[in-house]
Amino acid sequence: MSGQQQLQQRYAASLMNTFGPPKLVLTGGQGSVVTDADGKEYLDLLGGIAVNALGHAHPALVKAVSDQLATLGHISNFFTSLPQVELAERLLGLLGHGEGKVFFSNSGTEANEAALKLTRRTGRTHVVAMEKGFHGRTMGALAITHKEAYRTPFEPLPGEITFVPYGDTDALAAAVTEQTAAVVLEPLQGEAGVNPAPEGYLADARRITSEAGALLWFDEIQTGMGRTGEWFAHTASGVVPDLVTLAKGLGGGIPIGATIALGAAGDLLEPGNHGTTFGGNPVATAAALAVLDVIEADDLLAHVRSVGALLRDGLAADPRVTEVRGSGLLIGLDLVEAKSAEVTAAALAAGFIINNPTPERIRLAPPLVLTREQAQSFLDAWPRLLDEAGLDHGPDDTGSQP
Ligand SMILES: *Cc1c(COP(=O)(O)O)cnc(C)c1O
Repeated sequence: MSGQQQLQQRYAASLMNTFGPPKLVLTGGQGSVVTDADGKEYLDLLGGIAVNALGHAHPALVKAVSDQLATLGHISNFFTSLPQVELAERLLGLLGHGEGKVFFSNSGTEANEAALKLTRRTGRTHVVAMEKGFHGRTMGALAITHKEAYRTPFEPLPGEITFVPYGDTDALAAAVTEQTAAVVLEPLQGEAGVNPAPEGYLADARRITSEAGALLWFDEIQTGMGRTGEWFAHTASGVVPDLVTLAKGLGGGIPIGATIALGAAGDLLEPGNHGTTFGGNPVATAAALAVLDVIEADDLLAHVRSVGALLRDGLAADPRVTEVRGSGLLIGLDLVEAKSAEVTAAALAAGFIINNPTPERIRLAPPLVLTREQAQSFLDAWPRLLDEAGLDHGPDDTGSQP
């Protein structure tokens, strides 16, 4: 039995079976490459699900975390620290929507949980969320997550949620009333397989919520922090939301979430309303500051746009890909046949980590530092991966593929 198989057995005997069997036992990572227990290397085109913004073992992140841990690691929220305050200020500055307030936590679902509690402080309880939207697995975040399979085993969930089709302005206008506390949406749906909002939808959502006196809440947990080639996926729309939630890429792999409330919404949570032991600790906030510093210093937003365009164009060139969606380095594509699991398995065998959020969809969310050469190596392998997954070349297929 190989070392990997042995550890898989120990995993099965000692860890809850919430994720199914792990695909690999990983032992190391550098940049956009990870190594498994047999010494085989993989190009990591998933980045820990849009988390490892700076790739693996980035020296700036390693230094920031090590230095901070050696100086002051954890202090509780009876106290504050410079990195915590600096990070809050930097995030508000990057959002560029004026004054606001930040609450730090440790994950995406916690960032959304805090935001959901904040919406209750408006005195209203009804929330409108999106079909195919994903917001996390704790009870509150799950209540605004659409997928039946995730929800049903845990009902009853916190109530008064209405789901509307994503991108349908009329349906949204019909669902939002004077009783609505908030509308929550991803400016680009990630777990759904990368669905962008139609042109004008975010502005429509702003108008509809403003008219009803409801909060507009953008979940940018997957799309924020440069993932789309802008700091935030809603940046280009010019729309100013009331709430923004962040996590995933924010800490570059160190757990941190942020709930950002803009304008008057920043004062809705009062002393005693919410809390966390770990949230916003010096190490996690120092990590996030290092991520921001590197994105700025290395001009990674422009890099993400250019490598993302290279990948999208290259992937779309194969006729077995029917559509390529997304922005920057959050890329979703549709295959002619529902064989995304087969393609993902063929990719893994060939040394590429990719993801299949639905049977016909592939998702890529690589480190923002993915090089053009690395992206090209995947494009070079791509037609062969589709062959190996058994995708037909279509009606013109002569069967004479080598
Ligand atoms: C991943 C994700 C979450 C949940 O984040 P966790 O850190 O896994 O709790 C919430 N919203 C969106 C849009 C996500 O992609």
